[in-house]
Amino acid sequence: MATNVQLLKDALRKEGLLYTPQRQIIWDEICKTDDHRDAEEIYFKIKQGGHKVSRATVYRTIDVLVKNNLVRKLELGDGRNRYENKLDSSHHDHIVCIQCGRIDEFMDENIEKLQDEIAKKYQFKIVRHIHQLFGLCRDCN
Ligand SMILES: [Zn+2]
Ligand SMILES: [Zn+2]
Repeated sequence: MATNVQLLKDALRKEGLLYTPQRQIIWDEICKTDDHRDAEEIYFKIKQGGHKVSRATVYRTIDVLVKNNLVRKLELGDGRNRYENKLDSSHHDHIVCIQCGRIDEFMDENIEKLQDEIAKKYQFKIVRHIHQLFGLCRDCN
């Protein structure tokens, strides 16, 4: 079943791109899980599924989805951006294993509150924040 067709259509229209079954397949694949995957992983998963979608289309479509706020891009400093859909994922931060690449999500009220207090102190209105912790997971430690 196609996920959120209209969201994709709107994003593509804004970018002056056509809605195609290939682009829907890419969007579906990203919506299928809450995983944090890079573009290659997403591309191979689609290929594994027996779909004929070019790598260039996957990369380009992901860019459009990020630009239109449907997909979150995570920059972890290792040169491989990870992507996750933003459909029903409320705000969360990430803790990353530098050994195996495992990524967990967390959300801590205290950290959120603290950030607000810091912003207030500096008379900033927070638009977004990126908070990432890096370390070794239980398996790798
Ligand atoms: Zn690990
Ligand atoms: Zn996440």
